[in-house]
This record gives sequence, C-alpha cells and structure tokens, in this order.
Amino acid sequence: MRIAILGDVHSNLPALRRVIDAARRESIDHWVQVGDVVGYGAEPRECIDLLRSLGATVCIGNHDAAVLGMLDASYFNHYARVAIDWTRSQLRTQDIQYLKSLPFVVEHHEYTLTHGTLRMPEQFGYVLTVVEAKESLRRQKTRMGFVGHSHVPAVYLERTDHADLDAMYAPELETSTEHCHKVLMNVGSVGQPRDEDPRAAFAIYDTDRQRIWIRRVEYDIAAAQRTILAAGLPDVLARRLDLGV
Ligand code: ZN
Repeated sequence: MRIAILGDVHSNLPALRRVIDAARRESIDHWVQVGDVVGYGAEPRECIDLLRSLGATVCIGNHDAAVLGMLDASYFNHYARVAIDWTRSQLRTQDIQYLKSLPFVVEHHEYTLTHGTLRMPEQFGYVLTVVEAKESLRRQKTRMGFVGHSHVPAVYLERTDHADLDAMYAPELETSTEHCHKVLMNVGSVGQPRDEDPRAAFAIYDTDRQRIWIRRVEYDIAAAQRTILAAGLPDVLARRLDLGV
C-alpha cells in the first residue's frame, strides 16, 4: 500500500491541488493529512471539500481548533489571529461540522497521526528536536508516526541496531524504514513551507517496500497570494509564501 501524507494545508488551494496531482502520479492507495487544513490562506472551503473528496484520514490542527473556538486566541500571533477570525466567517455549517469531527490523534493499524507531539496532543506542542521526538515516540503505539505543525520536514528513526535516535533534516529526502523499531516523520507543509524552500511538500510511505520519502513541487504561488490579498488578509501572509518562511 502507498500512503500519501499531506502536511499543513492552511487554505492554500493552488498548493493542495498541485500536491495531489503529483502524489497521484505515484499510485496512492490512501490519503492522510496531519491537521491545519485552514488558517493563513484564503480558500478554506475549497481545501476542505478537496480533502473530503479524497476520503482523507485527517487529525485536527491548532488553527482548525482555534477556528472552532477550542483554543485561546492569545496562543497565536496577530496575523494568525486575523486569519482565524476571517476563516470562521467564511466556513459553512458543513465545514464547521467537519472540523469538529476531527480527532486529536488517529491510530490506524499502519500509523499514528497527530498534528504535533503525542505528549498532551490537545496542547499542540512542536516536535523540533531529538528530545521532543523521543518524548512523542515513547507514546506512539504504532511503528510509524506522522506529524506536521512546524512546517519543516524531518525524520526520526529508532533503529534496531542503534541506541541513539537518528535524525534527518532535509527539504527532500528518502530513506528505508527497515531495521527500525519506530519512525516519526514530520511531513513538512503543503501550503506554507517554513524551511526557506517555498515549494509545497508532501510525503509518501510505501508499506510494501518499507520506504518513506518527502518530495517538493512548485505551485502557482502568485495565485495563492492574489486570493489572500483579495480577501483582505494581511499582506505578510502573501509575501511569506515567496520566501518559504
Ligand atoms: Zn500549521
């Protein structure tokens, strides 16, 4: 089975479409998304519709939770808060119901899915370091785990022949998961990459070949920026897409 894992979408429809097109060429059987479907970008309804049409398995992100009023807004910076309030005004009843249906943690037989660390997932802590990866892996019951939230791709491998956790950080990477007890993968971001590479990121896990990889694809950044500015959202949210920050 081939699983496509999509990171933070953040209402960026051109990026989401491009990632889905690229992943489809790799014969995907199952679609997964690690939360933050909405926030920052200007096409939240369209992104929700597209993910639902794929039948994707999705967990809730902090921006999704904030739109639902489940998280204190002071947790966010000014620009994020403006986008959260705007997003709330745009969503239809079915979108709100959909976001409300998303769990904090998904335990599938092939993987565990959560937006940030598994340590108190409802608090949305980041996995940015080996120490944080270890804390999350200790609570991960399945062999594979997928997260997002930082918008920076990374893989942490708990190898059978190695006491220390192996960490890999790269915009694009590919590695075997053979000879691993457990693996935690941060799949990067579809709609707002922050590793200074503005290309949209997505990950694939091939369960038969025991391989995982992260790919980057160019998308129409100008189109995403136009919708952000036309919606009256802060222009910094448009400009950062060019920079990948
Ligand atoms: Zn995010």
